[in-house]
Amino acid sequence: MELCIIGSGYVGLVSGACFAEVGHTVICVDNDPRKVQSLQAGKIPIYEPGLEDLVHRNVGAKRLRFTQSIEEGVDASQVVFIAVPTPPQADGSVDLSFIERVAREIAGVLKDDYRVIVDKSTVPVKTGEKVADTIKRYNKSGCEFDVVSNPEFLREGCAVADLMNPDRVVIGSSSDRALALMKKVYEPFMAPILVTDINSAELIKHAANSFLALKISYANALSAICEASGADIEKVVDGIGADKRIGRHFLNAGLGYGGSCFPKDIAAFIAITDHLGMPFNLLKEVQRINADQKARFLKSIRDALWVLQDKKIAVWGLTFKPDTDDVRNSVPIDIVNELLKEGAQVSAYDPKGMEKAAELKLIEGARLAESPLDAVEGAEALIIATEWKEFAAVDLAEVKARMHTPLVFDGRNLFDPATMRGLGFTYRGIGRGRAA
Ligand code: NAD
Repeated sequence: MELCIIGSGYVGLVSGACFAEVGHTVICVDNDPRKVQSLQAGKIPIYEPGLEDLVHRNVGAKRLRFTQSIEEGVDASQVVFIAVPTPPQADGSVDLSFIERVAREIAGVLKDDYRVIVDKSTVPVKTGEKVADTIKRYNKSGCEFDVVSNPEFLREGCAVADLMNPDRVVIGSSSDRALALMKKVYEPFMAPILVTDINSAELIKHAANSFLALKISYANALSAICEASGADIEKVVDGIGADKRIGRHFLNAGLGYGGSCFPKDIAAFIAITDHLGMPFNLLKEVQRINADQKARFLKSIRDALWVLQDKKIAVWGLTFKPDTDDVRNSVPIDIVNELLKEGAQVSAYDPKGMEKAAELKLIEGARLAESPLDAVEGAEALIIATEWKEFAAVDLAEVKARMHTPLVFDGRNLFDPATMRGLGFTYRGIGRGRAA
């Protein structure tokens, strides 16, 4: 099939490459000229495992190309996906101006044959109706079309694997004609397809992300209870997660959730439910626990180091999770900035996130180290902020030798407390009893 994806970021680019990989012909559109030029030159603007090969292979096979022109994309395609940003506004509600603009632009170039317009961005329930109204209002050609909701569930860091092998594909539509085409798009993935009305599909995405955030906050709230009672959170979540009704995924205590999706999607769902007159207060508590987790971690650093002014602190990890270069809304970045604000000398290292952190000027004043060992040189404390596998493989004896004081705050419970103490570190994990 001929497909167009409008917005070639984490979702649009990876989806486009995966659709091409299964045999569709895909044209990815973006209004950022630098991004399109870079993609046309074979340079991939984001890091995602397996993505570079996938893009190069499909560009080479002439199944994938890039343009700035929505008209070129829409003209060439039966199905047009929208994957543009839906950022939060100050009150937590979603800024839908990107979606509205794209809907108008599509309307301006729709002509001739029937098209399916698919919303893949994360949007509030009832947005599909607004998109359909907008296209109807601005389209002068009378071209037939349907609007479909097809929320995306990929996880950054394993986006290619998630898209090639999804747990489920949600398609919200009341049009048999649109459904038939959407099923053809997804047929090669051999994944379970869940067909719903548009409103339910839109709601599924916010409800799913909110539930995952709730699981994380549940584990984090338990971690505080473990610290107060001397229990070990790792044992506790293993014990809970072994119950198939609960599951072990997303029950890891740490520094709290961050990134470009969870904080904004939970805030959005709260705003949506407030607007519907059905306030989802449980989610406000999820947000509170998340903020508290970061505050407790910073307090434990202050408790140990007292005044932070001029203290040398190493931070391993800047991205919001491992295997990505995404530093948007990253808890590690917040932590670095809190330390800088109190006058600490921060030396940070991240395997993939330093370029974007520097480009976006997110941690001005911190030194960007060349390696994990370079970061800990002379440090009075080491903070593990992202659980990159690379960090677990560093020679810990060398780390200790290079540090001024062997004090480790493990914000991701990457290391085993007994091993760390055995090596001579003063080790503080998350929720690992008083002694930890
Ligand atoms: P992104 O910022 O990485 O990419 C969006 C792209 O859209 C950018 O390249 C931008 O230049 C482009 N764009 C903006 N306006 C445009 C326009 N008028 N015409 C053409 N291109 C335009 O964003 P993302 O992370 O890919 O997220 C996109 C949507 O998908 C959001 O709603 C997000 O919530 C949702 N989502 C994201 C993820 C994720 O892990 N990143 C997962 C699931 C869903």
